[in-house]
Amino acid sequence: MMNDDVYYNKKRIRGEWSLTLSQDDPHRTGIQFARRARLARVVGLAAMFFPVAEMLVSRFLPGGWWLLLVGWAFIWPHFAWQLSCRAASPHQQEIFNLKTDAIVAGLWIGVMGIYALPAAALVMMVGINMMGSGGCRLFISGVALTALSVLVTLPLVGSAVPFNPGALEWGLTLPILMLYPMLFAWLSHRTAVRLVEHKRRLEMMSTRDGMTGVFNRRHWEMLLRNEFERCRRSHCTATILLIDIDHFKNINDTWGHDAGDKAIVAITRQLQMSVRSGDAIGRFGGDEFAVIMSQTAAESAIAVMSRVHARLETLSLPCAPKEPLRISVGVAPWGPQFVHYREWLKAADVALYKAKNAGRGRTEVAA
Ligand code: GH3
Ligand code: MG
Repeated sequence: MMNDDVYYNKKRIRGEWSLTLSQDDPHRTGIQFARRARLARVVGLAAMFFPVAEMLVSRFLPGGWWLLLVGWAFIWPHFAWQLSCRAASPHQQEIFNLKTDAIVAGLWIGVMGIYALPAAALVMMVGINMMGSGGCRLFISGVALTALSVLVTLPLVGSAVPFNPGALEWGLTLPILMLYPMLFAWLSHRTAVRLVEHKRRLEMMSTRDGMTGVFNRRHWEMLLRNEFERCRRSHCTATILLIDIDHFKNINDTWGHDAGDKAIVAITRQLQMSVRSGDAIGRFGGDEFAVIMSQTAAESAIAVMSRVHARLETLSLPCAPKEPLRISVGVAPWGPQFVHYREWLKAADVALYKAKNAGRGRTEVAA
């Protein structure tokens, strides 16, 4: 458990959670996919302009091809991005854009001649884009579309020139041959980093209480089960605590629900400041908390709780001044008489009940 107020800041946790939820939105993930493709397309096609232009010059092709080349290299990447942004399914649209890329690449390969060096660069770009975006299936359909496009274009305007690139052709094509795989690898790395972060947020969502940032009941019980098994195996010392705020309904009724929430958060912070970093605090919902103290005897747990009781004596919430904040605590050290972790928890619950009945604001230990 971390005693770090900033980390457990309520707003941050809620912000992270809403971000996580929004990242699960297929429209948003589709836009992110299209944005990655846009960057690769803008850089890749702009760099392809030069070797393809050199081929147009060397093959004396008419002005219409130049218009097509400028539109493809400098306008299409932005147009494709706009199409994806406006589409009902940006992901589907981006797949369509990638297939269009494959067809146009085939067209240029047909125009330049299939053995030209820039043709190899175009095949490399289509292959990387397709494999990286949709795996083998998209790769195969992309290569098939390119091949089909080459077969249609080649007899019309091109011819299969022998592979004998000159120095200029090498010079114009090498940068894209070298840089494009690096650019794609960098984009893939960035996506992988984001996925790891996304996974971390999802884990946080499934294990933490949204308001306080401490473990939720389900996760805390899982930790308790692990601790119980550990104690059973090696007969080590461990103590659990169940904590309930006294007369919490009064705070809600007198000062409002928001003040009640602030009281819950304030008490959580007091607990975090008092226990060790390895102790696991959980919120059981409502005004009830639980703590697992590993390697801790009941006496030490009681001493820790005495400090919490003392601190709460002096604590006053700005939103509920003069309202006393008190807690009752039930303490249960692990013992071999427990055959199930729930029995251990039950013992702490009985001790808490005892503390409530004995006048509240106190700590009682299970018999
Ligand atoms: P006792 O001393 O016997 O514990 O009395 P109590 O008034 O604290 O009674 P109890 O523990 O049963 O009260 C829990 C109340 O906490 C009931 C519910 O209205 C309120 N509550 C539960 N969850 C929340 C929450 O997230 N925020 C706020 N403000 N109140 C909550
Ligand atoms: Mg209570």
